[in-house]
Formats: sequence, structure tokens, C-alpha cells
Amino acid sequence: MKERLLALQQEALQELERVENAQQLNDLRVKYLGKKGPLTEILRGMGALSAEERPVIGQVANDVRAAIERVIETKQAGYDRAETENRLKAETIDVTLPGRPAGRGAVHPLHKVVQEIEDIFIGMGYTVAEGPEVEKDYYNFEALNLPKNHPARDMQDSFYITEELLMRTHTSPVQVRTMEKRNGEVPVKIICPGKVYRRDDDDATHSHQFMQIEGLVIDRNIRMSDLKGTLLQFVQEMFGKQATIRMRPSFFPFTEPSAEVDVSCMMCGGHGCRTCKQTGWLEILGSGMVHPRVLEMSGYDPAKYSGFAFGMGVERIAMLKYGIDDIRHFYTNDVRFLQQFARI
Ligand SMILES: [Zn+2]
Repeated sequence: MKERLLALQQEALQELERVENAQQLNDLRVKYLGKKGPLTEILRGMGALSAEERPVIGQVANDVRAAIERVIETKQAGYDRAETENRLKAETIDVTLPGRPAGRGAVHPLHKVVQEIEDIFIGMGYTVAEGPEVEKDYYNFEALNLPKNHPARDMQDSFYITEELLMRTHTSPVQVRTMEKRNGEVPVKIICPGKVYRRDDDDATHSHQFMQIEGLVIDRNIRMSDLKGTLLQFVQEMFGKQATIRMRPSFFPFTEPSAEVDVSCMMCGGHGCRTCKQTGWLEILGSGMVHPRVLEMSGYDPAKYSGFAFGMGVERIAMLKYGIDDIRHFYTNDVRFLQQFARI
């Protein structure tokens, strides 16, 4: 049995000599030292030996196992070291290589304009109010003096989700919600920026989704002259000190009296050009004194309080400010268009 063990050791060590990689080494480990290997088999047969022979053969078997293990461990350590070295070599980073430039983003022109308008009104003591884009019919129409059968709320113009829910067609519902929340307290002085939705065919000047900013002021003794002064201040901060406004009588269900507001054309200084269609004026917003019924419905006594409201399309302002001729540029995400605003 001793001879068999020593022959086994010799055979194993010879085979280990020829090993070329970690996989072969592992195969030999299983072959010689595994549960089904010859060494285990020999040890299993030790029960048949005499009491004197058993410790002697046991010692030899242990020596053989230890000799094989030693060689395997040494070789394994060599392979481990080589593997680590290879990995380090493969993962080497050349810190002297120039980096890839990371594209810098820019604020979207519509956002820029909203921020600018917000800044101007915050400077005048307004706060910014926001509300849901999916709105109840009541807030979008009814509370703004547009009862169910009013001709101005043509079903064709709105995206209805259910009978009572629609995509808001203007940001005015935020005004109603704010008045309700304030519960008759004054002053109310807010601007409401946000996305609005109308069933329009998209073209150079129309989009089924666009942005509005509306303003609302309620207090005692608020007059039309306050509205005019506020809007003049706004256009001069937005378009420059030389800008002036004119108001034309108009009609909106939620204001009385109502006025369209034109700003003097910033392209030609009021002399007449293509942008202003030779009139010298550009229509930029709608406004008026809050209708007494609207005040009443939202908990303000029209005998005590009055207010003004105005609203403008953000795209229209941005198009005038940056000389953009197609509203669709804002929504088609053409990077060449957007990049122009990175440095403004
Ligand atoms: Zn002009």
C-alpha cells in the first residue's frame, strides 16, 4: 500500500509539472485530492490493515497529500499573481489623455422668459402661484363667469377628459383656486405661470399646448390706472425703457371692462415694419378689471373690493424678444435651435 501511495505521489507531481493554466491545475486538484480521487480510495481501504500498519500507512498517506497540496498551492499562487497583473495592465488609465467634453445644457428659452417675467413681478411684490393642468370644469369655466351653455366655451376648443374634467385652457383657474384659498383676505397679488391646452391645429403661430402667465390683484380701491401702470412697468423692464403701451377696449367674460394691450414694436421702434405689419404696435396681452360676478363666486364682496387681471402667452413674448418666427421651434427639441440660447 505504501508503494501505491508513493507511485501516486510521483504520478501526481509529474502531471503537475506539465500544467499550463489555472483550469488544468484545478482539474488535477479534483483528480488527485477530490472525494472520488485515488488518494481517498486508498485511505478508505485502511480499515483492512492491521493495527500496527495503520498509523504507518496513515502517516505516508498524509505526507503524500501534503506534498501534492504544496505543489498545487505554489502553482495556484503563481496564477493568481499573474491574473492580478494582467488585470492591472488591462485596466490602466492614462491620466494624461485629454477628456471627452461633456455637453453643457442650457435653460429652455420659454423657461428663461418665464423666469424673467416672474422676476419682474416678484420685484413688484407678487408671489408665484401654481395649479393642476388637469382641471375641473368649474374652475376652468364656471367660476370665471362662463356657465355651461356659454358660447365662448366651445367644446371644440378644449381637451375634455370626462364631462367634468379637462386639460386647462388657461391658467385662470389658478386665480380662482387662490381666491378660494385666501377666503376673502386681501391683498391678493399673484402671477400664475404654466402650460395650457387648446384644440388648435399646429402652425407657425398656433400650438395645441402653450404657456401662459396670468396676473391677479385684489384689494380695496384697485383701479384701471393701477392695471395700466403695472403693465407699463412690466413692458419697460421686459423690452426696454423706450417701450410704451396702448389699451384697446375688448371683451372677456371674466373681466369688465376688458382691454387688449399692445406694446410699441421693439423691432422698428414704432415706425412700422414686417413684424408689426406696419402698425408700430404688437398685441401681447389681454387684461381687465375682475368681473364682479367672479369676485363674488370666489368669496370677495364686489362692493368692498376690486381687482385687475391680465394674461399673456409666453411663446409670443419669447418670439418677440428673440425674433423667432415659428412657435413650433419651442417644442420640436432641435438642438441647433436650443443651443443658440446657451449663451444668452
Ligand atoms: Zn415694427
